[in-house]
Amino acid sequence: MSVTRHTKVLIIGSGPAGYSAGVYAARAMLEPLLVQGIEPGGQLTTTTEVENWPGDTEVQGPDLMIRMEAHARAMGCDIVGDIITSLDLSKRPFTAQSDSGTVYKADAVIMCTGARAKWLGLPTEEKFKGFGVSACATCDGFFYRGMEIAVIGGGNTAVEEALFLTNFASKVTLIHRRDELRCEKILEHRLLKNPKIETLWFHELEEVYGTDSPLGVEGIKVKHTKTDEITDLPVKGLFIAIGHAPASELVKDQLELHSGGYVNVEAGSTRTAIPGVFAAGDLTDHIYRQAVTSAGMGCMAALDAEKFLAEQD
Ligand SMILES: Cc1cc2nc3c(=O)[nH]c(=O)nc-3n(C[C@H](O)[C@H](O)[C@H](O)COP(=O)(O)OP(=O)(O)OC[C@H]3O[C@@H](n4cnc5c(N)ncnc54)[C@H](O)[C@@H]3O)c2cc1C
Repeated sequence: MSVTRHTKVLIIGSGPAGYSAGVYAARAMLEPLLVQGIEPGGQLTTTTEVENWPGDTEVQGPDLMIRMEAHARAMGCDIVGDIITSLDLSKRPFTAQSDSGTVYKADAVIMCTGARAKWLGLPTEEKFKGFGVSACATCDGFFYRGMEIAVIGGGNTAVEEALFLTNFASKVTLIHRRDELRCEKILEHRLLKNPKIETLWFHELEEVYGTDSPLGVEGIKVKHTKTDEITDLPVKGLFIAIGHAPASELVKDQLELHSGGYVNVEAGSTRTAIPGVFAAGDLTDHIYRQAVTSAGMGCMAALDAEKFLAEQD
């Protein structure tokens, strides 16, 4: 028999946005209920050192997320290990069906389901993820000061990441499977005239190799897409920049989306087009994609929800 639980505020997602929303909503006496999803703690649980979380010069991503969870719990946020499988935002209270069979009814919903970097899917890419292979130049570029690195991709993201990485690396090789970029002309111009950047057209990643103990990248092998010729590049870091996929499946037919699936919010707020439904973190953000910006938006969402519920009363 299915159980129905009613809450004033349902928070969906347990990354920095979700837990921050949990802290603020609990401290506003809204008795929030947070559903963690398939990845409790979110994306930061898949990385090692984080050096840009204010207050910690260095913290392990999984440790930070355990602390955030404990913080939200201590403030009174009810945290549930469950996955939302469908969401009906057509009328209030909103209704969420879940994997466990529990039905959640909520006066307000805060969506914090995040986003995923797209990967190529090679076994050696997987092996070195977080140990030389990254999908975030802002997060990890600093670790490659004075080293040679490579970036895979040919769109705006890849070009921006390559340019940003020249602040740290001695040389950046941009590898693309075509011979033209799919980016703004101004970015292309900056890339091509940057003396630290070399381009390798018509190539794709074949293999990442390195040491096992400690785990670390020593180089990559790339294959010419026309001749199959293999080239060896002795790089210490590899950035996969082929795009991100926001986790907006639950709301894609109910909320306005932008830039390939990110949830639209009113500028300067977390309000979506449906009153009582708020969105925060990477789910809404195709630009910054950071833990601290997500946490900030989680705070905003809880305050927006609090104001909305007060107005209903
Ligand atoms: C390898 C890596 C390293 C990074 N390093 C840094 C760094 O050093 N510094 C930094 O600031 N940022 C870093 N980032 C980026 C940072 O992790 C993200 O910006 C941040 O986690 C986004 O937070 P979020 O709360 O929006 O979503 P996420 O962290 O993506 O969390 C999404 C949450 O939603 C849940 N969810 C999804 N679908 C459902 C569902 N149907 N039902 C219930 N729950 C659901 C998931 O289980 C997850 O808990 C890194 C990212 C990666 C991948």
